[in-house]
Amino acid sequence: MKFNAPRGTNDILPPEIKKWQYIEDLTHKLFTNYNYQEIRTPIFEYTELFQRGIGEVTDIVEKEMYTFEDKSGRSITLRPEGTASVIRSFLENKIYGQAQPTKYYYIGPMFRYERPQSGRFRQFHQLGVEAIASDDPALDAEIISLGIRLMEELGLEDFELHLNSVGCKSCRPKYVKKLKSFLIENKEDLCDKCRERIERNPLRVLDCKNQSCQSVIKGAPKITEHLCPECDEHFSEVQSFLDILNIEYNINPLLVRGLDYYTNTAFEIKDNALGAQNTVFGGGRYNGLAEEIGNRDIPGIGFALGIERLLLSLDAKGIEVAEEAGIDLYITVIGKKAKREAFRLLDILRNEDFKTEIDYLDRSVGSQMKSADRMNAEYTIIIGEDELENNSATIRNMKSGNEEEIKLSNLLEVMKQLVDKEEI
Ligand code: ATP
Ligand code: MG
Repeated sequence: MKFNAPRGTNDILPPEIKKWQYIEDLTHKLFTNYNYQEIRTPIFEYTELFQRGIGEVTDIVEKEMYTFEDKSGRSITLRPEGTASVIRSFLENKIYGQAQPTKYYYIGPMFRYERPQSGRFRQFHQLGVEAIASDDPALDAEIISLGIRLMEELGLEDFELHLNSVGCKSCRPKYVKKLKSFLIENKEDLCDKCRERIERNPLRVLDCKNQSCQSVIKGAPKITEHLCPECDEHFSEVQSFLDILNIEYNINPLLVRGLDYYTNTAFEIKDNALGAQNTVFGGGRYNGLAEEIGNRDIPGIGFALGIERLLLSLDAKGIEVAEEAGIDLYITVIGKKAKREAFRLLDILRNEDFKTEIDYLDRSVGSQMKSADRMNAEYTIIIGEDELENNSATIRNMKSGNEEEIKLSNLLEVMKQLVDKEEI
């Protein structure tokens, strides 16, 4: 074989694709119920959007972006996430001039140059939501509950919600200062990376996986104890709205996002059956993001969920979400003339939404019947010269083995009676 798909990418083949369609259909249905509208933004953007909108000192911008120059010399980047594009679009299209809040969702591929492993790919897929232009804590709870609801609808129940507040631009700097001096005091026990982080992005030290860093972090000052009264109030309101929805959470003061425009609520949903890459979705408030990329003070909150990780989670629990549906009728033909008539009938039946198939490889009756079996056909009918001449054929129920003589010209009517079609 000459060509392989690029490292870290996957073909999604049938029957696997059925699961994807199922999740996508459920997302459209559920998110629409919560009154979120779908938005589709470009797969690539100008690089600067992500530099500003994700932040220069993040893993994504520092080392994970697919960035290239287009033929006119502009720097382009394949989107590594969805939020920056959604906010760019909101600002560019002046959606803020319409009634607020704006509630969007998206589904699509994202690109990050990472080391491929279980649950981590270079092209992967996210579905996500953004609620823009309100800082109502009820919206934080709604966003979290929407993600959880999606998991529950799929039959997933063993997950943990980690919740935190990272404060705002008035209270966080004071906390960061305290954290910095604490980290400097304990510098000796930090890993090389974290020693660098003390100056550049001290909050990032809090989620370092290194053992020695972990034990330092245990004693670090907690952000939840340094919130200003407004942020403290917002955080308890988020919790009380989650309580109303009976959603359990663990407050985790180490759950932080390193950048200034992330504010207040931060959360992650973890499925511990997934091993190292166990976060199925995560998100939080970004009240400073629109300011950063468009000089407008507009709050927002969202989450992004990794579809591949959701599927791994379903696999780990042995949950089958979508079964391969069979076909309604397989028309077995004998001879050229019958093939023509079958081809005509096929079209009539398909026009009436019957899932129907015939043979395209000039196979024997026996092989055609095997195909019908493989396609899980509910009914089969055999059409040859005799059947054409007598306008009569035998239709067979493949499960029960029952057979019935019918008029060939009545096939559509007969199928209508036999097949219990779901109304669309
Ligand atoms: P991680 O800590 O696993 O690297 P992250 O903090 O980079 O995650 P986000 O940017 O918050 O993740 O993206 C949201 C979700 O998208 C993640 O929780 C995960 O489910 C999924 N995701 C992120 N990166 C990848 C990837 N490379 N491959 C597959 N899924 C991913
Ligand atoms: Mg990552």
